[in-house]
Amino acid sequence: AIMRLQSAVCQLFRESLYAQGFMEIHSPKLIPGESEGGAEVFRTDYFGTMACLAQSPQLYKQMAISSDLHRVFEVGPVFRAEKSNTRRHLCEFTGLDLEMAINEHYDETLVVLHKMFKHIFTNMEERFAKELAVVREQYASAPVRFTEEPCIIHWDEGMTMLQEAGETPDVLGDLSGAHELKLGELVADKYGADFYILDRYPAAARPFYTMPCPDDDRYTNSYDLFIRGQEICSGAQRVHEPELLKKQIAAKEMPLEPLADYITAMEHATPPHAGAGIGLERVVFLYLGLDNVRKASMFPRDPNRISP
Ligand code: ATP
Repeated sequence: AIMRLQSAVCQLFRESLYAQGFMEIHSPKLIPGESEGGAEVFRTDYFGTMACLAQSPQLYKQMAISSDLHRVFEVGPVFRAEKSNTRRHLCEFTGLDLEMAINEHYDETLVVLHKMFKHIFTNMEERFAKELAVVREQYASAPVRFTEEPCIIHWDEGMTMLQEAGETPDVLGDLSGAHELKLGELVADKYGADFYILDRYPAAARPFYTMPCPDDDRYTNSYDLFIRGQEICSGAQRVHEPELLKKQIAAKEMPLEPLADYITAMEHATPPHAGAGIGLERVVFLYLGLDNVRKASMFPRDPNRISP
């Protein structure tokens, strides 16, 4: 039943995005060794040079936008060499990714995401009630409560809510898991929503391609989406101006050379754009209130497990 529901989430994701004018793309999972870098990549030999398994389709979906594909999504494997054994991390998971050109404001992407998740939540309960009932016999869970319009909490408001509740979050850093859970409770009390968007993350917590807030560059036009205080999706408006992009790459002390093709793509009059990445198993595990993300994967991959 859990695998049937995993398939349902995928189906509903596709349904909603096709209806919202997106097309499906397929980007390579074998990528040049240096392009994404970092400690969390699996390295492999590629005819005598080093290649990596893609940590996300990020740069490729943006290059699709720069070639005028306008609205794209991808369903595909994502590889993370994370040594941490947690209940919510896998070394290979299924990424549901989307990217879109925007006209006026990245709120347009938040509206698309909200509509898409509403489609998933509503249709899960209506069309897959039988499978849900089977899982809920063993793992109790209630339908996710969501607002009609997107429930958007700005970072500063979130920090104030936490401080008023006696917490001491790092206001220009990232949120700890405990603070995320606490904020989830506070949002549920204040807005009656289990599903919400935390918007305007501090720049220190986000990658180089994230667009700074025009009114204050300590913050970014970026957001995470949560179910009951646990992250299911992360996204942002991206930097489409090559000069600003180069400046941000330098500020994060990253080499420009491995990103040359990507920067060239951004030089081809790329429109302003924004997008998001979602973990399929993460959504299923949190929606169903399972105790471990591994239960939402048919053949989970973690630091101690590569078979069957
Ligand atoms: P987290 O803070 O939970 O480690 P992240 O910030 O590394 O996640 P992103 O790289 O932004 O996450 O990935 C986008 C989405 O992919 C996340 O919101 C989550 O749903 C999912 N995801 C990320 N890492 C994993 C993982 N190791 N296993 C399963 N799903 C993941």
